[in-house]
This record gives sequence, structure tokens and C-alpha cells, in this order.
Amino acid sequence: MPREYHESHRSVMVHEALHYLLTRDDGVYVDCTLGEGGHTRAIIEATSAKSSVIGLDVDAEVLALAERKLRDIQENVSLFNVSYLNFDVVLGSLGISKVDGFLLDLGVSTYQLKAKGRGFSYEVDEPLDMRMNLDNPVKAADVVNRYSEQELARILFEYGDEKRFSRRIARSIAKRRPIQTTFELVEAIRSALPPEERHRRKRHFATRTFQALRIEVNNELEVIKSTLLKIPEYLNPGGRVVAITFHSLEDRTVKVAFREKKGIELKILTKKPIIPSDSEVKENPRARSAKLRAAERI
Ligand code: SAM
Repeated sequence: MPREYHESHRSVMVHEALHYLLTRDDGVYVDCTLGEGGHTRAIIEATSAKSSVIGLDVDAEVLALAERKLRDIQENVSLFNVSYLNFDVVLGSLGISKVDGFLLDLGVSTYQLKAKGRGFSYEVDEPLDMRMNLDNPVKAADVVNRYSEQELARILFEYGDEKRFSRRIARSIAKRRPIQTTFELVEAIRSALPPEERHRRKRHFATRTFQALRIEVNNELEVIKSTLLKIPEYLNPGGRVVAITFHSLEDRTVKVAFREKKGIELKILTKKPIIPSDSEVKENPRARSAKLRAAERI
């Protein structure tokens, strides 16, 4: 059951995603990151309900929310609570060997940020959790409290892009352990950063550390890479894969995975990543860091 939640996720780069993804009206598409189903609904509507979508989300609460929201188009969608890493198992169970497109809209959903108690946000005080898969035994609090100071510094450096302050933040965290809540973590970060550094940053000073922990808890980059390398084998010739990312590490992971298959199984359709229009960013600030890359099965 989803928790209490009064907002709605605004899907990012819908027009651009459909432009690259849809090659036929009666196609079968896999929405690897179903979320609240915004992109899935757009696919069904843009193809006049002739296509079908297999929607996956690793977060059982988000999937339940999507099931509710997509009830009116349930004939066209099949939803599964699994990691997209296991999309091949789902296709196998449906007796499908190839599809026409895969969409990945990476990152967190508005539900995960705003519903109470998921521990993804530095804006509300709650237990440090950050698991997308609620069966995952490792929460962000476990990473923060159990990893060595050196390991924490490495994660902040690599996954958070905290190039100058990773060691300082890791030391401050280690000194304050045990850290159980988002606000305790924010405090540890605040005290590690000089005030001028905190004020210099365009985004909240805790953003990078929170991003790094989320990536570590959910093993995000590995999962993205392994999935993208597996996808071409499951695409019909001319079928497409479209990935929307929200930070440079994700984008690089997509770029490198596409390049590995370039000329063998994939043709890259976006030499440079596509970015959202100014008007979309104005209407939906979450879109500001989005980048879209697409490739086609040769
Ligand atoms: N496109 C969606 C929409 O329009 O409503 C929003 C997707 S949201 C940005 C990303 C979703 O991907 C989240 O709901 C998250 O739970 C899901 N997700 C993250 N990692 C996943 C994984 N490994 N497998 C399946 N879903 C995943």
C-alpha cells in the first residue's frame, strides 16, 4: 500500500522520449522505471492504445500507486514489481523474446522524496533509509554507520562528486556516529563544510552526499550498466533504447554502455545528449539536470 502522499510526479522530457522511443504504433515497449506511470500513459496515448507496455518498478509502494493510476488503461499494461535488471526474466515469463523499445527514466520519483518515512530527502527529518527496494537489507543508515571512514570518503568522492571535501565529510560523519536520521546527517555535512563553500553551492550543500549514499544503497550504476549491456539482445531490429539521466555519473554510465555496443548491436541516435526545453525547466525545475540519450538496434 502506498503511504499518504498528496503530490503527483511530473514526467520529464515526455515529448523527446516518445520521439526517440516509438517506432511503431502496435509495438511492445518496456518502461523499466514505471514510477507513477506518466511515461507509460504517454506511450499508450501516443499510439492510440494500439501498443502495450510492460512496466517495471522495484519499489512495491510506487508500483501499487501506478496500478491505481493506470487502471483505465489496464488492458494495455502489465506491471511487475521487479528490478529492471531482471527485465529478461519478466519477458521470459510472458513468452516474449524481443520488444520494440526500452525506456529508463532514472533517479528518484516524487513519491519517494515526498511520502513520509522513505528517508531520501534532506528536507524532512526521518530515519535514513533511501532503499528503492524495501526488501533490500541495507539502508543508508547502515552505510553511514558501518562503512570505514575511508570507504565513506571514496563513495562521496566517486558517487557524490565531492572532489574537495569527501574526506572532511567522511571524518565528520565518523565522529558523530551513530547517525540515524536525515537531519543528523545534514548536520554532519554542515559542520564539515566551510560556510563560504556551503553558500557558494548552487544546490543544497547536502545534495552530493545524499546522492552518493542513494547510489551506494541501491547499487545504481552497476545495475544501469548491466541492464543496458543486456538490452540490445532483446530489441527487434530498429527497436530503440532511451535513457533519461539526472546527474553526470548516470549520463556517463549510459554513454559508455552505448559505446560498448556501438557498431556491433547499436546505432547511437544522439551524438550529444538531448536536454529539456527552457519552458519545461521553467515549469518543472526537476527537469533542469535531465539528459536523454537514445540508440537503435541495428
Ligand atoms: N517515468 C516515471 C513517470 O513518468 O512517472 C517516473 C520514474 S522515477 C524518476 C524512477 C523510478 O524508477 C522510481 O519509481 C524507482 O523506484 C524506479 N527504479 C529505480 N531503480 C529501479 C530498478 N533497479 N528497477 C526498477 N525500478 C527502479
